Amino acid sequence: MSILSDRVLNMSTSATLAMAAKARELKAEGKDIIGLSLGEPDFNTPDFIKEAAKQAIDDNYNSYTPVDGYVELKDAIITKFKRDNGLHYTLPQIVVSTGAKQALANVAAVILNAGDEVILPCPYWVSYSDIVKVNGGVPVEVKTSIDNDFKLTPEQLEAAITPKTKMIWYSSPCNPSGSVYSQQELRALADVLVKYPNIIVVSDEIYEHINFVGDHASMAQFPDMFDRTVTVNGVSKAFAMTGWRIGYIGAPAEIARACNKMQGQVTSGANCIAQRAVIAALNASPSKVKYMIDEFKERRSLILGLLNEVPGFKTNEPEGAFYVFPDVSYYFGKTIQGVTINNASDFSMCLLEHANVATVTGDAFGNPKCIRISYAASQEQIIEAVKRIKTLLS
Ligand code: PMP
Ligand code: GLU
Repeated sequence: MSILSDRVLNMSTSATLAMAAKARELKAEGKDIIGLSLGEPDFNTPDFIKEAAKQAIDDNYNSYTPVDGYVELKDAIITKFKRDNGLHYTLPQIVVSTGAKQALANVAAVILNAGDEVILPCPYWVSYSDIVKVNGGVPVEVKTSIDNDFKLTPEQLEAAITPKTKMIWYSSPCNPSGSVYSQQELRALADVLVKYPNIIVVSDEIYEHINFVGDHASMAQFPDMFDRTVTVNGVSKAFAMTGWRIGYIGAPAEIARACNKMQGQVTSGANCIAQRAVIAALNASPSKVKYMIDEFKERRSLILGLLNEVPGFKTNEPEGAFYVFPDVSYYFGKTIQGVTINNASDFSMCLLEHANVATVTGDAFGNPKCIRISYAASQEQIIEAVKRIKTLLS
């Protein structure tokens, strides 16, 4: 019998982090691995943000912060929500956490009772399912189709709702599919949800600025959804600040208060220097980070063009984030370099072992036919990676 809890024994290891660790390990052994597994910008944090952090150290920001974040940071978040999203939150509705990941974990912990269902349109971000399960919830995966750009339809949403449905979680722009819900598409989903007033929506908008098609739409923008939507965001992606670990929510005050209470017993406030730096990040105009978005857009065209030439890859056109999520089921049942490919995990491992390219299996995102390729890598790396994949498969 294991000394460990059923809770952790029943939990999967984060596939994105596991693949990144494996790629790192192989690199350390001297292998020439191209890592396209981790969703992490390859840019440096912008200088104006780094300066704010240095200043905070010199100004002796070294104490515990309020559990839910410095008031100045929460003010900057309120300003950001108003400026970028037309959302009008007040101070008691904001909680700053150690990454959007902790923000999501808080929400699950304060809302779910054992057996409560959470609708997860597939593909979903890797950690949603395990965060829900570890908090006693039951993930209800709803398959979407590549032909509908991997978006949930109102009919699918309504069919998945049961008396036990407590929440729906989705990301837009979506990790891993890159799909972006338009305002009309969100409204159509909201029209279903208004019939079920007890369901809370968790709208993960961490890729908000990495959007190649235009305006970002938020579920909370609809007055009839504002009081039941938790808007999750953070600085990891658009500001190239993954390691700084700051995320936040705007939420109904009752939920925010509960997250504050939960966090106060688990981690306390997020890192003080990182919080000061994020004040500078959020008070700046989003145009300050546009050079990174422009580069991601170029890489998207590059990788889509290159993948088009790989036989057997079927890919939707991502409208945001920095991933492509090709369906590779064409290769299932085939043998590559002596390895029989039965599923996306086999395929992803085969790319790692025989092409030295790290990707992530779609199983981890609730779609076992696809793999996720992150194009948060240099254009040279993208070109070389697809060349290796093409050579292996031909
Ligand atoms: N949500 C999505 C959709 C993500 O891709 C990530 C990736 N890290 C997170 C949340 C968590 O972000 P972080 O904890 O770095 O703020
Ligand atoms: N969100 C990123 C990804 O999906 C970072 C890794 C993680 O936190 O899982 O790759």
